[in-house]
Formats: sequence, C-alpha cells, structure tokens
Amino acid sequence: MNDIILLKLGEIVLKGLNRRSFEQKLTANVRRRLAPIGKFRVYCLQSIIYVEGEDGADMDTAFEALKKVFGVISLTRAAACEKDKDAIAKLAIEYLREDMLRAKSFKVETRRSDKAFPMTSIELSQYVGNALSDAYEDIEVDVHDPELVVHIEVRDLAAYVHAMPVHGAGGLPVGCSGTAVTLLSGGIDSPVSTYMIAKRGVHLIPVHFFSFPYTSQQAKDKVIELGRLLTEYCGKMTMEVVPFTHIQEEIRDKCPEEYFTLIMRRFMMRIAEQIAQRSNAKAIVTGENLGQVASQTMEAMASTQAVIDLPVLQPLIGMDKEEIITIARKIGTFDTSILPYEDCCTVFTPKHPRTRPKLSEVERAESVLDIDALVDEAVKGLEEVELRHE
Ligand code: ATP
Ligand code: MG
Repeated sequence: MNDIILLKLGEIVLKGLNRRSFEQKLTANVRRRLAPIGKFRVYCLQSIIYVEGEDGADMDTAFEALKKVFGVISLTRAAACEKDKDAIAKLAIEYLREDMLRAKSFKVETRRSDKAFPMTSIELSQYVGNALSDAYEDIEVDVHDPELVVHIEVRDLAAYVHAMPVHGAGGLPVGCSGTAVTLLSGGIDSPVSTYMIAKRGVHLIPVHFFSFPYTSQQAKDKVIELGRLLTEYCGKMTMEVVPFTHIQEEIRDKCPEEYFTLIMRRFMMRIAEQIAQRSNAKAIVTGENLGQVASQTMEAMASTQAVIDLPVLQPLIGMDKEEIITIARKIGTFDTSILPYEDCCTVFTPKHPRTRPKLSEVERAESVLDIDALVDEAVKGLEEVELRHE
C-alpha cells in the first residue's frame, strides 16, 4: 500500500504574497525539514503538498516533524491507488481497518478535483460507503454526526483515501515574511516570542548577551539548547552570542545604580540593530510583557527603544504569564527555561530601579560612557553558533 502524507496549506494573507511563492517556500522548508530523517519525494500540486517516502523512509517520524512546519494548516496520512471505484473501495477497506473497527459510526466524503472521473462525488461516497458497511457490520452510517469521516480525494495523479486530518502548526512558511533579530535570554518568555514571530513567516537570528563570568557557561549552554529546540519550528538558525561583560562592568562602575537595567537594555538594542543591519533584518523581537518587571513599563520601553530605528516586535506584550507558559509547554521549551541559571539581566540589578524614567535622565546617566566604542567592541567579539535540528 502506497502510504503518503498530504499537507494542506494555511492562509495566504498578504496581497503581495502570491500562492506560488508561498507554495515554493513551504515545499522547500518541508524538504529541508525531512532531509535528516530519510529520503522523501516532496511535490506540490493543486495547493496540496505530497510527501512520499522512498527506500523505507520513516513515515511516523516524518509525520511528527511536519506537525511543526509553519504554513501547514492540516496534515494527514493517506494511501494512494489508481482512480477506479473498486480499487478505491478495496483500499478504504484495508487501509482504514483500525479506524473502522474502533468507531461506532462513519460517513464517506469525496472530493473530486479530477472532473473527468466518471462518478460524481456523491455517487462515489455512496459506493465506497456501501462497500465499507458490507465489510464492517458493527459500524453504522451517520451522515450528520459521524465519529469517523472517511475522506476520498480524486486528484490529478491518483485517488487518495484517508481518515481525519490533524491540525498543523498554522501560520506562514518561515522565510516568506523576511528576517528579524530575536533577543533570546534563558527565560520562559523569549523562546515563546521567537516562536510566535517565526509563525508569521519570519526567519530569525537569535542574539544572546553573555556576561561571563557573572553568568556561567551553563547559562550559555541552556540558551543554545533553547535555540536548538526552537529550530523544530524556526528551521536552521545562526545564533549570535554577544560578549556583554565589559559593558555591564562599565555601567556598574560609572552610572547611577537606579538606571543600570535601562542603560543595559539600550546597549542590547543598539547591538541588536547592528546585527540586524549586517543581515538585512527588518525588526527586533523581544519577550517583553507590559508591567511584568520594572524595565517593562511603557516609559521604560520607550527609553529602550529610543536608541534604534528598527521596529521592536513584542508578541507577548498583552499576555498573562499563564498563557505564555501554556505555549512554552506546547512547544517544548518550558522545562529547559526553568533550569536555574542566572541571566545577565539579574547581575548588578538595582535595588530601586527607575520604573517611569524620563528619556533625558537616562541619556544623562549614560553620557559618561564611550557608547560607540563599547558597541563596536561587543560586535567585534560576536561568536556564532549554528543551530539545527537533529
Ligand atoms: P525572559 O523570560 O525571556 O527572560 P523576562 O521576563 O525575564 O524575559 P527581561 O529579563 O526583562 O524579561 O528581558 C526582556 C526581554 O529582553 C527578554 O524577553 C529577551 O527578549 C531580552 N533579553 C533579556 N536578557 C537577554 C539576554 N541575556 N540575551 C538576549 N536577550 C535578552
Ligand atoms: Mg530574562
């Protein structure tokens, strides 16, 4: 039996983004995602992507992996046969055996994009439905509220039989909305913000600020692991690790304590923007969340964003922590995020941070620093880490 996977495409939202380029991007992403798993034939016809295993490729693993590819609205395992009513009925009886034995009621739904097929959709549904009823006597036909829907699709190359499709990852294919830099700490929030922007079709460059020895090698390994986990959704990424120790020491030694965090965050933004410019990235993504900490008031975020021109995307801005955690669990980053390693945001934290800073005060507080030289030094010291799924 010819077991294949059918992927249905999700929304195509932007006017400029035409179906063809969307399909091509998604097909390429699917191929790339499957390459480490085995040999597959992947092609797109009539807005469905077909995945056929070759040389005994592992279809179960492929199916699980494809649930995490953005741009796919639903996916299903299916079996193919020639476009003949008896071949289709025979295939349905064999291929859906377990589903038919488990369910109490069923109906058959046919879609026929090959209009040359000699039966109408309704006729074929009835024909196959009768054959299934004869083969499985304990299950009833229920066209209104069936437990099992048997799908038949008569398409260009073949006919396909499958049971219920499952939900795909939704969103848009990664890469079709351009590139952005994402600030990735070791916390719960920023892996989720990264995931959410990738879901809108953005290729991401994770940037991590690392303050060795104030933050440990384990803290860095943890962020690398988070980035690696995210590649299941985001595809292959190159993470930039920024040496941040000197900047933090300069702030600690020379600036008023109540502004430490704000000044540090302004450095993060400047450095992130430089990385973005080198890679033609068009925005900076953060896991900020209104009111969560002192640096996430509207005034504090305004002072942080004042140093750059690129838009800052904050997909978590209005969410509750519980909602963020639910997503973190779903995408598999939560357990790594809660490992107890410190982040550079928690070294030299002021006892009484300014929560409603005036921009002019922050600017005065940091004016003692040689900002350009410090940013240059950090950018020169960047370390690149390639992230890919196994
Ligand atoms: P998270 O749970 O993602 O750590 P948070 O609620 O702890 O977020 P902050 O520590 O104030 O919030 O950081 C806000 C955002 O700034 C983070 O979501 C992340 O995008 C970015 N950020 C913080 N620390 C770092 C870091 N060391 N490297 C890169 N980005 C960082
Ligand atoms: Mg943090």
